[in-house]
Amino acid sequence: MKTKKNKKVLGKKKTQRTLKKQEAIVDWPIKRRVLYRPERYQYIKKIDQPKTCVFCDAASMGVGKASLCVYRSEYSMILLNKFPYNNGHILILPLNHIGNLLELSPVQYEDLMATVRKAMMAIENIYHPAAMNLGMNHGAAAGAGIPDHLHFHIVPRWSGDLNFFPLIAETKVVIETLEQTFDNFMRYFSK
Ligand SMILES: [Zn+2]
Repeated sequence: MKTKKNKKVLGKKKTQRTLKKQEAIVDWPIKRRVLYRPERYQYIKKIDQPKTCVFCDAASMGVGKASLCVYRSEYSMILLNKFPYNNGHILILPLNHIGNLLELSPVQYEDLMATVRKAMMAIENIYHPAAMNLGMNHGAAAGAGIPDHLHFHIVPRWSGDLNFFPLIAETKVVIETLEQTFDNFMRYFSK
């Protein structure tokens, strides 16, 4: 016969079993929290298949506010990111429509890397950030929004600069307008 006390013990055991099961799932492959955002896929899908390549369009327009291009070398260019994660978020990319870094010719590659360095120097001089994120999503599965035209991202960072807003409210706190960012870079590159 189940007494009140027995029921309580059984309940506790069940909870322990459930907890163990949950821990086993969380432990694989590594222990971390995952925030699922299926709506992000809609955004990726939308910009994944543009009618024309926005980067090639910018390359043909050259430096200017319409293209958001602030610097152009023989084989590469620096664009402002239209959807910045932080002030001064820029993109560095080859002028030609190419998605694979390994397919760049040596001279295109060297020019691109030199432009990455120029972009970092510009950010250092304009924003004096505490740090920078420099990286590339190489290929669609890696998260590239425009996988057919490779591009590095540089995001200047300050301690505690990005808060919970991007996660909870689809809102990014960027204290500078794109126009101000454009003017900052133009001033720097025209020196
Ligand atoms: Zn392109």
